[in-house]
Amino acid sequence: VRAGAETAPEDETRRAEQVAEGFRALYGRDPEGVWAAPGRVNLIGEYTDFNDGFVMPLALPHTAVAAVARRDDGVLRVHSADLPDPVTELRVDDLTPGCDTSWAAYPAGVVYALRAAGHAVGGADLHLASTVPTGAGLSSSAALEVVTALALNDLYGLGLGRAELARLAQRAENEFVGVPCGVMDQMAAACCTDGHALHLDTRDLSLRQVPFAPADDGLALLVVDTRVQHALGDGAYAERRAGCEEGARRLGVSHLRDVPHAELAEALERLADAGEHVVRYVRHIVTDNHRVGEVIALLDAGEVRAVGPVLTEGHRSLREDLRVSCPELDLVVESALAAGALGARMTGGGFGGSAVVLTEADAAGRIGEAVRAAFATAGHPEPRIFPALPSAGARRIS
Ligand code: ADP
Ligand code: MG
Repeated sequence: VRAGAETAPEDETRRAEQVAEGFRALYGRDPEGVWAAPGRVNLIGEYTDFNDGFVMPLALPHTAVAAVARRDDGVLRVHSADLPDPVTELRVDDLTPGCDTSWAAYPAGVVYALRAAGHAVGGADLHLASTVPTGAGLSSSAALEVVTALALNDLYGLGLGRAELARLAQRAENEFVGVPCGVMDQMAAACCTDGHALHLDTRDLSLRQVPFAPADDGLALLVVDTRVQHALGDGAYAERRAGCEEGARRLGVSHLRDVPHAELAEALERLADAGEHVVRYVRHIVTDNHRVGEVIALLDAGEVRAVGPVLTEGHRSLREDLRVSCPELDLVVESALAAGALGARMTGGGFGGSAVVLTEADAAGRIGEAVRAAFATAGHPEPRIFPALPSAGARRIS
């Protein structure tokens, strides 16, 4: 996958025209519209979403853009400008989990999830192109799902709200693609707004748009994509999930979100008979949920610089307690802090992917160079570094 612009995609209208032109060349007719959905970075609250907890993602300027038109013969055709694959053609009546294991499972899974929930969605032609880096922990997959969901919602007049679309997109990824992800990524792609981070309660999907414009405070939030993805990731995610579920069961709560931070020490004592890993996982989830609250309070108080140490503490917790970091992510955090960053942490599922770094804007260049130099010295691939400009969620663009 070629996706992943170094800089924010400049001209959305031009991109919409390009993707529409690609659609015409492929399918020999005009699309009915063009939609966009963004990738995201999570500021704080990691692995908390499947524990019914809190997260705080923001949308990136990088987007998946899809041109779509309905078909009345029950056929679904999907194509990506970013891959050499030919058009994938499926019958919507035949969509079952596992029937397609290519990238096409993301858009097809959305059609499946909509139909499984009883919504009257028929066939469609879809062509897309994305600037969201893939497999970098920036959720290129949710961008694909949500852009498809929004397009079909509009074209088939389903009248579904953003949160419902996000839930169905998550169902597509869980059931059809077979990835047991929480709902954060799809909610971020569907519900983020320009200039804000999204304070999301993943229990009931209640949310608050928190103004977040680091540049206004002379700050920058950098995304550092390590460009590595360790194979460990998939099994480790399921193992963390199982460990968290065991912790909740032993503590007599439905989800770890129900363990108050003030009662953490007591809860950990009650886990004396559990495996040592369960104790660590519970400690991470309860403290990271608490850190989301701390970050919100600091932003509300205008103390944006003080967010830095909370991010760094979150990284320590992910590294030592949840153990989902890796040498490359640790090196981003260490080298950025050594060069004077205010705070840094891995973001997303870990084992590679991306980190976020909060820094004074005028130190951003120097810190980026320090991280690059540290990577070169360690023999790691050159990281991709860009500012996380809090951007808009999914939308129709033509
Ligand atoms: P992430 O969501 O963190 O980027 P995932 O592994 O969840 O990583 O999703 C990446 C997958 O999404 C790719 O392997 C591919 O199947 C699909 N994908 C993402 N962007 C595109 C694209 N532009 N064209 C086709 N498939 C894509
Ligand atoms: Mg993904």
